[in-house]
Amino acid sequence: MSQSITILGATGSIGKSTLDVIARHPESYSLFAVTANGNVSAMVDIVNRYQPQYAVMVEDNAAEQLRAQLPADTRTQVLGGANALTEVSECNEVDVVMAAIVGAAGLTPTLAAINQGKRVLLANKEALVVSGELFINAARQSGAQILPVDSEHNAIFQCLPDLAQQQVGHMQLTDHGIDKLLLTGSGGPFRHTPIEQLAQQTPEQACKHPNWSMGQKISVDSATMLNKGLEYIEARWLFNCQRDQLDIVIHPQSVIHSMVQYIDGSVIAQMGEPDMRTPIAHVLGFPDRIRSGVKGLDFMALGELSFMPVDFTRYPCLKLAIDSCWHGQSATTILNAANEVAVAAFLNGQIRFTDIAEVCDAALQNLNSVHVDSVEALMTIDAQARRAASQRVEQVVYA
Ligand code: NAD
Ligand code: MG
Repeated sequence: MSQSITILGATGSIGKSTLDVIARHPESYSLFAVTANGNVSAMVDIVNRYQPQYAVMVEDNAAEQLRAQLPADTRTQVLGGANALTEVSECNEVDVVMAAIVGAAGLTPTLAAINQGKRVLLANKEALVVSGELFINAARQSGAQILPVDSEHNAIFQCLPDLAQQQVGHMQLTDHGIDKLLLTGSGGPFRHTPIEQLAQQTPEQACKHPNWSMGQKISVDSATMLNKGLEYIEARWLFNCQRDQLDIVIHPQSVIHSMVQYIDGSVIAQMGEPDMRTPIAHVLGFPDRIRSGVKGLDFMALGELSFMPVDFTRYPCLKLAIDSCWHGQSATTILNAANEVAVAAFLNGQIRFTDIAEVCDAALQNLNSVHVDSVEALMTIDAQARRAASQRVEQVVYA
C-alpha cells in the first residue's frame, strides 16, 4: 500500500535527496505536503515536478509569490505561515513525516508529528538536541516511531539487534550485549589546517566539506565539529547512552558511518558511499530495503581506511557539546541557539571562524541548573541564549 508523506524542509539538501529517492518508487509513496522557508523558485520546481497535495511557505509573502508562479490548473494547494507546518505534519492523512528543517525551527512541527503517532524520519538533529527528553517521552506516549536519518545514527541503528531497533529512545544497551557506540567523524575541511590559521578561514572554505555535500549551516558545524557534538547529544537520546557508552573516532574517509561494539569484542560497522540517499532510503523502506540510486563501495578503489583520536584544542566546540550533553537540556538548548546565531554571523562575514566557539562559550556562562519540563520553557531559554549570543557577536565585531 502507498504511504502518504510530508517533507518538512523539502527545498534543502536532505529534502531534495528524499524527493530523489521517492521518485524512484512512485508506487510506494504519495507526496502529501512539501514545505520551505522562503525559497520560492526551488519550490516552484518541486511543485511542478512532484505535484504534492500541499506546498507550504513559511516566510511572509512567499506563499503569495508561489501561487502567482504556479500554473492556473495546478492540483497543489499553497499554504503560508509557520502554523501550516504543524497542520501538514499532524494531519490524519499523513503516515510519514520527513523532518528535514534546519535548526530549532524544526522542533514544533516535528513534535506535532510525534504527538500524532506518525512515523518520523528524523534528520533535524537540532530538535533532539533542544528537547531530547521531551521528544523521546512524547514518542513513547503516542507510539510514534522515530527512525534516524543522520548517517551516523542511521548506521548505529542498522547495527543494532531487532529488539533494540524497536526501543529507540529507551533501550538499555547492556541488555543487548552492547559495550559502546562509536560515532565516526571526518574532522571536516580544516583537519590539517595549522591551528593558528583557523581564524582566517572563510565561509566558502568552511563549506567545502571533503566528503559530503550539505546545507551551509551543517557544513560550518562540520568544520568546527560542533556537528559531531550535536550528533553526540542526538545519540545520547536516541540510544539512551551513559557517558562511558559513547565515543567519537576521527575517520577521514567517511566510509564507516559509525559502529557498535559488543561485549564479546565484535564491532559491527555500517559502510557506504557518503551519500545521504542511502540512510534516507533505509528509513523510507524500513524494515525492507529499497533502491536509493547509490552504488555499493568499490573497495579496491578505496585502498585504506584510517582512524585517529579527537584533538579538542582544534575543536573546542566539540568539547562544549560533550560537557553540555551531560549537564542537561538547558545547556544543550543554549549551546544550540548560540551556535545558530554564531554560524549565521560567520556566514555573514561578521565574525571569524574561531569566534564561533567564543560566542557559544559566552552564552553558556548564563547557564543555571533549572530542570526544564516543557517546550515553552525550552523556547524561553533558547530566546535568552540567542540574545546573549547576539550581544557577544556585537562585542566581537566591535573589539
Ligand atoms: P538546508 O539548509 O539545505 O535546508 C534546510 C531546509 O529547511 C530548507 O528547505 C529551508 O527552506 C528550511 N528552513 C530553514 N529555516 C526554516 C525555518 N525557520 N522555518 C521553516 N523551514 C525552514 O539543510 P540540510 O543540509 O538539508 O539539513 C537539514 C537538517 O538535516 C539539519 O538539521 C541537518 O543538521 C540535518 N542533516 C543534514 C545532512 C546533510 O547531508 N545535508 C546530514 C545529516 C543531517
Ligand atoms: Mg551526520
